Parts: sequence; C-alpha cells; structure tokens
Amino acid sequence: MIGTARCWLNAALLTAGIALAQTTTLAGSDWEVIKVSGHDYLTIENISRFYGLPAGVVVAGGEKIRFETVKNPLEFVSGSREAMINGARSWLCFPLIEQDGKYLVSRTDLAKTIEPLVRPHRVAKVGNVQTVVLDPGHGGYDKGQVSRYGYEKDFALDVGRKLRPLLQAKGLRVIMTREGDYFVSLEVRAKIANAARNSIFVSIHFNATNDDPNATGFEIFSFTPRGAPSTSDTALTSSSYSMQPGSEVDAQSMALSACIYHSLIGHIPEYDRGIKRARFAVLRLTKVPAVLIEGGFLTERGECKLIANKDWRGKLAAAIGVGIENYRTLGVRKQPPMRITGHWA
Ligand SMILES: [Zn+2]
Repeated sequence: MIGTARCWLNAALLTAGIALAQTTTLAGSDWEVIKVSGHDYLTIENISRFYGLPAGVVVAGGEKIRFETVKNPLEFVSGSREAMINGARSWLCFPLIEQDGKYLVSRTDLAKTIEPLVRPHRVAKVGNVQTVVLDPGHGGYDKGQVSRYGYEKDFALDVGRKLRPLLQAKGLRVIMTREGDYFVSLEVRAKIANAARNSIFVSIHFNATNDDPNATGFEIFSFTPRGAPSTSDTALTSSSYSMQPGSEVDAQSMALSACIYHSLIGHIPEYDRGIKRARFAVLRLTKVPAVLIEGGFLTERGECKLIANKDWRGKLAAAIGVGIENYRTLGVRKQPPMRITGHWA
C-alpha cells in the first residue's frame, strides 16, 4: 500500500487558530457546521478552539513556520488528505478544502479521525481487551511478497511468535490465526477473532510495491468509516456506504492504530507512512477492534535486509507489544497514553 509522499517541510504553515477554550463535550452549540455540496464541514478554527490545540495549514510554495512551543498541534495541508494529528501522521477521509478564506475539515474526519486520535481514551469501550488475536499474514502456498532474503509469510509468522510471549507476560491471552506455515482464509481469520471474548485483532504483514523501489517505512491500517473512501482511493464506490462488522468498532480500531503507531515511531527509527484506512477483508469482517500493520518494504533492499534480521523482528514485535499494552491502558486509566517521542522533536 503506497500513499502519496508530500513535501511537508517545504511549505508555509499559516497559523489559523490558537488555543482559546478547553471544552470537554461535543455539544452541538460548540460547532458551526458549514454545508459544501451537501456535505458537512467545520472550520479548523472551530476544531482548534474545541480541543484547545493550535492548528495550522500548510500551503504549498511558502516557508514553513513551526509551532516551537507546542508539542502536538493539528496540522493540515491545503487540498490534501495528509495531516498531523496529536503527533500522528494521519490520512483524512476527505481533503482539506478552502472556502471564503477558511479551511474546512469534513465532519466525518472530525468524528472518525480527529476525535479518536486526540481523545482516544474517550472512545466508547476502548481498551477492553483480554485476548489478542495475532494474525501473521499469508501462509502455505500463499507466500505473500517474495524477497531476495525470504518470504513475507515467514517474517510475519516469526513476528507473531516473538510477540505472543511478550503479550502473555502482560497477562493477555493470545490466539494465533496460524501457528505454522499453512494457508488460512481471510474469512476464517476474522471468525477466529469474532469468536474470542473481549478480543482485538492485529494482522502482521510486510509491504511491497512495483512503483517505487525506494519506498520504505511502516503503515498501519484500520477499517475505513462508512461513507468515506479508503486512503488509496480518491472516490467513493457503492461498497463505501454499506455497514460492515468492522464499522461498529471503527473508533476503537483507530485508537488501537494510534497506540501501535506511537510505539512504533518511538522504538523504530524507520520512516513512518502514517495511519491509513482500508477495507481489507480482515478489517471489514472483524467485529472487534482490528488493525493491519505493514512493517516495512520487502522491495527496498536496505529495509528488506532489516526485516530479514531476526533481532530487528524482535524489536518490531516488542514495539507492537508496547502499543497493545498502551491501548489496554486507555481503558483502565481513561487518559491519553504516554508518548515516547514526537515527530517535531
Ligand atoms: Zn501481506
């Protein structure tokens, strides 16, 4: 899965809102909804004021102004879906639009992207996890990506095997959708997750592309909200509107994405490609919080070498484990997790 890389740093950041209020409820009176072509939007000033976070818009062609004193502002790119939200590189469902000198974010993104990223601890039923269903991608005749150093299916299984005891040591029950080198259908993988009480589903893959041999970095997917296009799509299709098992828990899945994402950027120095959305079968069919991690590119020589290194895979497994633990903590402490590092440091 490849996103469009945008040059974030060679652009101007315009201060579009400053922290004014610490509002804690999503009361209707706090929001001024603006209709554009029948869709609901909100200004970034409104969002900034609501969350008490400074917000900015990157406009192509200028000089970047940074928020030196603020750790995790909201940053958007004019005309783009790329954003930085609470320290996470995130892909909005809909691009930021400009109207009458104001920058507008879709209501879908406010509810489904910004809210679970800024206040993951407030997502309903978040962190309620006793069982982790680990899903090493591919298996058997389905090798996944074939690289010069080995198969994706083997690397994914090894990460799962390394992660299992780490989670068990934290008191979590672990179920693997496959324990060895055999084929398991996507439907069966989702069924295993759905049959386990208070479970979350974590699918482990490695990436590949024919378009850019230099593409590197990890990305994390959760299920695309109903009525929105996936990150790799620019338009809506008929399937974008249907309710799926994964739709019920898309906010929890987003919070899980964020927890694992922050742990990965804290522990693994490779470039991050951000938090994305997709309608992959394992995300669509699971009715429990679910994410799919692409742990780097097997098509890039240096990254492929890393992935083929068992110590590096151990590090990846440990980072995913910390992210899962942070997700569980959200439900216990009802406060945002500790951050290990930030992009702007
Ligand atoms: Zn794969």
